[in-house]
Amino acid sequence: MMIYCENCHAPIVEDSAKCPYCGALNAVGGEKQYMEQLYDIKKDVEELSVSPVREYRREIGKPGCVIRVTVLVTAVLTACVGLLFFWHKMDGS
Ligand SMILES: [Zn+2]
Repeated sequence: MMIYCENCHAPIVEDSAKCPYCGALNAVGGEKQYMEQLYDIKKDVEELSVSPVREYRREIGKPGCVIRVTVLVTAVLTACVGLLFFWHKMDGS
């Protein structure tokens, strides 16, 4: 979309931050470029903050869960065997 420069009234592209003829700042284009840059930065930050967490969860989550379940099962089995052994001993004496 074409607009006209506020300074020299030359037709300029709305998205451009400056008038190519006189160099006057185009508020609409400047703001648009600024917002696009902000959006890009925001996107980069989001990618930076999201992906390492995902990688961390993917790497640590699965083995951590397996280890936790293994420890829990081992503890329960040990407790059961210990109780059975204890009761057996009680009956014997
Ligand atoms: Zn101009």
